[in-house]
Amino acid sequence: MKIVNPWSGATIADVPADNARSVAAKYARARAAQPRWAAVPMKKRLDAIAKFRAALVAREDELAKTLTQEVGKPIRQSRNEIKGLLGRIDFFLAQSAKTLRDEKVFEDRGGKLEERISHEPLGVIANISAWNYPYFVGGNVFVPALIAGNAILYKPSEYATLTGLAIAEMLHAAGVPDDVFLPVIGAGDVGAALLKQPVDGVFFTGSYPTGQKIAAAAGKRMVKVQLELGGKDPVYVCEDVDIQAAAAAVADGAFYNTGQSCCSVERVYVHEAIAKPFIEAFVEEVASFRIGDPMDEATYIGAITRKPQLDVLKRQVADAKKKGATLLLGGKPLPGKGNRFEPTVLTGVDSTMAVMRDESFGPIIGIETVADDDEALARMNDSEYGLTAGVYTSDAKRAKAIMAKLEAGSVYWNCCDRVSPRLPWSGVKHSGIGLTLSTYGIQTFTRPKAWHLRGG
Ligand code: NAD
Repeated sequence: MKIVNPWSGATIADVPADNARSVAAKYARARAAQPRWAAVPMKKRLDAIAKFRAALVAREDELAKTLTQEVGKPIRQSRNEIKGLLGRIDFFLAQSAKTLRDEKVFEDRGGKLEERISHEPLGVIANISAWNYPYFVGGNVFVPALIAGNAILYKPSEYATLTGLAIAEMLHAAGVPDDVFLPVIGAGDVGAALLKQPVDGVFFTGSYPTGQKIAAAAGKRMVKVQLELGGKDPVYVCEDVDIQAAAAAVADGAFYNTGQSCCSVERVYVHEAIAKPFIEAFVEEVASFRIGDPMDEATYIGAITRKPQLDVLKRQVADAKKKGATLLLGGKPLPGKGNRFEPTVLTGVDSTMAVMRDESFGPIIGIETVADDDEALARMNDSEYGLTAGVYTSDAKRAKAIMAKLEAGSVYWNCCDRVSPRLPWSGVKHSGIGLTLSTYGIQTFTRPKAWHLRGG
């Protein structure tokens, strides 16, 4: 399988891919190894993850370079992602033992009658991952799943293969047995072959269309399926904000990672009383973003990782313009061999336009003007997706009233595009089922077993 740098178009590596037979052999190894791993004391499993953390710190520069070269993420943002994983690991290291401890939930007759819950690992799980934040979306699964005693068949995205292989190498060097964490290399066909194996759980991060295929493939198995899918995340900017600060924050939320985050701001609704100055400040901010070689420290806008996404972006601009939107900035691919697109701002948009309905996953945003909070809420909830949604206002009561009615897994006040290890990460509607992160995101890799104990 060829690995191509999406900014330069150059082939940077050639790696052997798996096939149905090699995937089956890896499954057999994981199945045989899992009970031994589950029997390793929790302390030793935590030690291995702590060593993995140390390797991330020691190799940060080299790992960031690999990530930037294969996905086209600006180098500073690659380093931020690796640093961000450290905080998540710290949370799991601190919380796992107490979260997975046996619980006594009932006792009677002087302790003779007891009811307890233990948290058993699921067994062998498939972790099929996206490319846009391979350390985050992979780490949200494999770190707590390993701590909980599972073996993992880890399929990194074909666009983040080298990073996936580096993760496997670091985990093995840290003491996770080779057969307990097995990278499965390849594209969608290899992912489909993985789902033919009798795994005990499927943990997927990717698009809604692929999520539907995963759910269908796993449906007959009666195993746990978690799907973390796309979003069309809205932000509402009220008339009582600091306009410059809100414009800068929302622009960053929309364009960070070149707009290729599941929780990127994808729709902006602004109160009509400040629409004009807000849009001016927003466009000024976006126009200042430095586009360039992702290896350059000053770059903020890098490559579009997947070439076909350029057509999605072009189609969304054309559709919006045809239906009456105004193009204030950008709107077309940038010259060069790789996949590059101008940061793009559209106004005069409405909910009939693809740019306000379908996931863009690129450096493009539509800004719509609304008359009041009710209209903003109706627009924000008018989506097939429900990953995150945010409101900018200086009024706490107003913010909370709106947040309570937002149909999204995560809601934000005066922030956006944010993930915390302490909070559950989940979506509603087409944004998925199940969750990662928080203590629930540790327990999700286990099965609660009910113990009814009746002593003599
Ligand atoms: P994708 O759906 O194209 O691919 C995801 C993974 O599925 C890849 O590893 C791919 O090889 C594999 N795959 C493809 N077809 C398959 C099949 N038939 N059977 C099994 N596996 C298959 O998504 P992507 O382009 O890698 O990622 C972008 C999408 O992921 C966006 O929609 C984004 O919003 C979403 N995402 C969501 C979250 C979240 O936490 N909710 C996080 C990151 C990305």
